[in-house]
Amino acid sequence: MDIDKIRSEFPILGRQLYKRPLVYLDNTATSQTPDRVVKAIVDGYTTTKANVHRGVHTLSQEATELQENARRRVKEWINAGSTSEIVFTRGTTEALNLVVSSMGWMVLSEGDEIILTVMEHHANIVPWQLLQQRIGFKINVVPIDECGQLKLDVYRSLFNERTRLVSVCHASNVLGTVNPVKEMIAEAHSHGVPVVIDGAQAAPHIKIDVSDLDADFYTFSAHKMYGPTGVGVLYGKEKWLEKMPPYQGGGEMIASVSFEKTTFADLPYKFEAGTPDFIGISALSKAIDFMDELGVDNIAAHEHELLDYTTRRMMDEIPGVRIFGTAPGKCAIISFLVGDIHHYDMGMLLDKLGIAVRTGHHCAQPLMHALGVEGVVRASFAAYNTKSECDDFIAGLKRVTAILS
Ligand code: PLP
Repeated sequence: MDIDKIRSEFPILGRQLYKRPLVYLDNTATSQTPDRVVKAIVDGYTTTKANVHRGVHTLSQEATELQENARRRVKEWINAGSTSEIVFTRGTTEALNLVVSSMGWMVLSEGDEIILTVMEHHANIVPWQLLQQRIGFKINVVPIDECGQLKLDVYRSLFNERTRLVSVCHASNVLGTVNPVKEMIAEAHSHGVPVVIDGAQAAPHIKIDVSDLDADFYTFSAHKMYGPTGVGVLYGKEKWLEKMPPYQGGGEMIASVSFEKTTFADLPYKFEAGTPDFIGISALSKAIDFMDELGVDNIAAHEHELLDYTTRRMMDEIPGVRIFGTAPGKCAIISFLVGDIHHYDMGMLLDKLGIAVRTGHHCAQPLMHALGVEGVVRASFAAYNTKSECDDFIAGLKRVTAILS
């Protein structure tokens, strides 16, 4: 990969912070956005802004075409069976809430059970708990081993005749662990149980093939994969989406409305009430082009090189470092603590050196509890990061550690 060329598409990477070059290592929270995506957004606002689906006029038709092209692009990108299976949302969080509210209501009753894992992001815990309060089902949780891998024997043992659903992340936003979701889906299906995959952390690093995975639902956010904010995708198997009731009511999602009876639009529009972020959605297709041109496998190989290099140097050169998540083949995420230095202090001082890392519980408090910590520092890599940034990060860590120890 020609990193200089890649970086030239990201003007933000040329920023200085405190008179030092920005070293952006907070990619797990959100990645930066290449010029072509920003240009698509600007073009949308300056040349084709008109509400989609409602108009006969040219601008509206062009805007609709851009949005529907993006849907086709996403469908191909994740190898879905049909564009009917691609629902645009505001992000992974909304996509998961949609599944919980619509599908959860449909299949769960008091006394039923679902399976989550201890490494889930709050977005894949709290919506289920909200529904749990209203219905009264049980949430079973798969634990992890010392490397941060799911205990699959426990997972298998959790299925019984009351198990109705599994919801699991493809990759952990803290540990980086890539879960064997294909195997987990096959296991669930052998019990007749559907599976929801939170793909927020997998989509930027792993080629997603929902047909090969046989996932019932798959969710991800554009802003974590070089795309715009405020746009996400819910993939759902047509057989499920057809049966599910709408999530929100409003314009765009109906076939006809009267005070006596309302009928709903065909898929996927039944789940897209109101005006979508059609400009953001069309820009998502440019983010996919960006990843496609580089090749997801090449991006992942580059990130892994940085991950291995940085991890080795941290282990060799930073006394007292503890890395959380050491599963083989993990995503390029390093969550760590050094001695008894508070994660927040570490992040604050690294920032003063121009190095952006994230600190805290990373919306994974149950996982923090399982790890026995309140929070961790997290450095995470993307296609545009360089070895010299890893060196800056290590130098920064040494300096901050010396100050805070
Ligand atoms: N799931 C995982 C694993 C995440 O890492 C995140 C965000 O960090 C989310 C869900 C929520 O994504 P969003 O805030 O884009 O809806």
